[in-house]
Amino acid sequence: MGRRGMTGHSAPAAIWHRHDMDPVARLKSGFEDFKVNVYNKKPELFEPLKEGQAPTYMVFGCADSRCCPSVTLGLQPGEAFTMRNIASMVGPYDKNKYTGTGSAIEYAVCALKVSVIVVIGHSRCGGIKALLSMEEGAPDNFHFVEDWVRIGLPAKKKVQTECKALPFDAQCSVLEKEAVNVSLDNLKTYPFVKEGVENGSLKLVGAHYDFVNGKFETWDAPTPPPSKAVDAVARLKTGFQNFKIDVYDSLTLCSFPNSKKPELFEPLKEGQAPTFMVFACADSRCCPSVTLRLQPGEAFTIRNIASMVGPYDKTKYTGIGSAIEYAVCALKVSCIVVIGHSRCGGIRALLSMQDGAPNNFHFVEDWVKICYAAKKKVQIECKALPFDDQCSVLEREAVNVSLDNLMTYPFVKEGVASGKLKLVGGHYDFVNGKFETWSR
Ligand SMILES: [Zn+2]
Ligand SMILES: [Zn+2]
Repeated sequence: MGRRGMTGHSAPAAIWHRHDMDPVARLKSGFEDFKVNVYNKKPELFEPLKEGQAPTYMVFGCADSRCCPSVTLGLQPGEAFTMRNIASMVGPYDKNKYTGTGSAIEYAVCALKVSVIVVIGHSRCGGIKALLSMEEGAPDNFHFVEDWVRIGLPAKKKVQTECKALPFDAQCSVLEKEAVNVSLDNLKTYPFVKEGVENGSLKLVGAHYDFVNGKFETWDAPTPPPSKAVDAVARLKTGFQNFKIDVYDSLTLCSFPNSKKPELFEPLKEGQAPTFMVFACADSRCCPSVTLRLQPGEAFTIRNIASMVGPYDKTKYTGIGSAIEYAVCALKVSCIVVIGHSRCGGIRALLSMQDGAPNNFHFVEDWVKICYAAKKKVQIECKALPFDDQCSVLEREAVNVSLDNLMTYPFVKEGVASGKLKLVGGHYDFVNGKFETWSR
């Protein structure tokens, strides 16, 4: 499957954001704009968030560059712990295969105590198209992609049976929602989710963002809704309405100075051609669409605990592998950015773990161990520093391990060697309002 096959449409002829700016300079000026116009102007929002996060939501969104939930639902810093992957899929409880997903759910439910988990599908999803296109029994074309989207296989079977009279595109539209339902069912295989749903402290919500028609709908997974959560769902609908009126319909989105305003959403309906693939932490204070002013269509975005990239491993890191493969081989992004951040809970967990001690969590320790090599380095080189300062160093060193791990993917290695792909490290310090980048 090439770029055309995976997206189903050719890329728009002129991408509005592809002005003649170096990608790294683009990130820096995006951050400057955020700093001057948002961060510095809202100390009442950002000061308390320096001490900690207490998000209402955990959100699963597709990595698709057109679908950032901070943008489309107006979710503010601190509101939503956000996981983004191919087709916003949630695999079932599996300690080996879905450590990334499991660690994020566990942290959100058990440590942050979110009250609503929302899984959002979307129109014209490349992952859903790939799932529906796959021939049964045919060999996989990709290292990871097919294996990842197979999470939604029960939904595909259902759609193929119940909607066999519909054309392919219409079947895809149904599958976008049915795949969300499979993810909602899978969420209940996690004991801490099941418990929360049963005692009424946690609500599961399905949602669909249709960027072709400018619509957003939600539905409840069949559970008794606690009253606080009903308000939380209304909040999502209001957020989308505001986005629809102020941004989607108004065509005056871009506070970012070099962007061309009017033709943003129409070409994006046909396909995405993002410049960036971004790895950012799921932390509710760190959405890169907000902090770097990344606009719809600009960045294919993965969010997980501590923005970690595991090494090439077809069994353990299917979620990450499929996203990198899709971004590099199908979307042909030119820059992969891995962004660490200040006061990262995942980094603190990594540095706090005692060697040889039993794990306290089902998934979290196993996930953050991806950057164990960085921890060893920091413990040796910075042993005189206090714990918090060691964490600060580790936030950056962990990014370097992820950048090294990226090079274990053959398609990344090849892209870097040919000069088509650049790898960049980044760090967002929300305590001091700083953003730095470095090349590796
Ligand atoms: Zn998608
Ligand atoms: Zn973090």
